[in-house]
Amino acid sequence: MKRTTSGGGRRRPALHLVLVLALPAAFAAGVGQADWRVPFARGEQARREGDLETYASSMSAAVEAMPGGLLNRPFAQYHAARANALLGRRSEATRYLRMAWDEGIESLMISWADHDPAFDALRDDGAFRGLMALASATDLVVEPLAGSTYRITGAGANLVASVGPDGALLVDTGYGTALEPIRRALRSVGAEAVDVLVLTHAHEDHVGSAAGLGDHAVIVAHGATAKAMGEPSVFIEGVELPPKPASARPDIELLGDTVLRFNGEDVWIHPVPAHTEGDLAAYFASSAVLHLGDAYLGANPMMFPGTADPDRFLDDLDRFLDRLDPGAIVVGGHDPPTDLSAVRLQIAETRACMDAVRGAVEGGKTAEQIVEATEGRFPAPWVGFFYRLFTQPGPGR
Ligand SMILES: [Zn+2]
Repeated sequence: MKRTTSGGGRRRPALHLVLVLALPAAFAAGVGQADWRVPFARGEQARREGDLETYASSMSAAVEAMPGGLLNRPFAQYHAARANALLGRRSEATRYLRMAWDEGIESLMISWADHDPAFDALRDDGAFRGLMALASATDLVVEPLAGSTYRITGAGANLVASVGPDGALLVDTGYGTALEPIRRALRSVGAEAVDVLVLTHAHEDHVGSAAGLGDHAVIVAHGATAKAMGEPSVFIEGVELPPKPASARPDIELLGDTVLRFNGEDVWIHPVPAHTEGDLAAYFASSAVLHLGDAYLGANPMMFPGTADPDRFLDDLDRFLDRLDPGAIVVGGHDPPTDLSAVRLQIAETRACMDAVRGAVEGGKTAEQIVEATEGRFPAPWVGFFYRLFTQPGPGR
């Protein structure tokens, strides 16, 4: 059964802040002119101002400056395609989409062009239509992790599935275009349907196919995720998505720890409100596999906008990790699998960076002085992130 409550009054949707750490000028200077964030930020600014030529040239420059394999590349490639589409440069637009598809970092991101009015002029373009068809015909990669669990990649985010006598429990869904590819991937390991779907948070790259799977699956998510799914959202700025349909909404809303028993093992569900207010972690206790969602993103500090009390969040995360098998496999939202020591290292670096910036802010230091004092010790975007956290009160804390 699905809840059918409406999303309530219309409000400005929250921006999707997964991967791009925008930089104040002082921190952009700190990372050097060759860094891709500088042209990327210039491109974003030009887009807001309606300066399409600068939007296009800056996003192209950001793509040029980015190292291969970087998670942010498809974002910049998508923007470069989008800017060129708005300028009527059809072949340049499809060239960037094709590049994002071929590099395979998050290939399905190109399917956004199907919903994005910026690409209206390309709807009848053969090359564009061919790319959109590729996106829906894609095959995901299924790899065994441990015990009953598999990691499924290519859907837009890391999915973890437990497959066994009770059926399939899936953590996250990827984009909406991933629906049929997910079904094919699960059939390849013997699962005919998803019986339980756990959502780590409400962002489109994690819940996009929930509506299609939710007709059969019982959906479990945090109450804050359920609330967010009832509201409009923006995944790529300029492309607003309506509230999720009833079939996508959680059947069971959690506000604290719980344990599900599925396929003969306990699955611990633990809130980790790091990246949004509603993040959940799922730990398959016998398989010793942890899905941390976007609470763990390799390139970012451990804690990202959404948590009210960063110190308490990190302490709670420590205690949670202490309860797990020391040899557990850790799957974050978008990176290759890793282990607990990598997560602990990231927590330690996050604490050190946070403490250094907090101390400097409390000591009255300026942004420029903090950049100088922390150079070589912490990535400039982390310093910028914590600087904003401690100097700008309000949402995001
Ligand atoms: Zn994500």
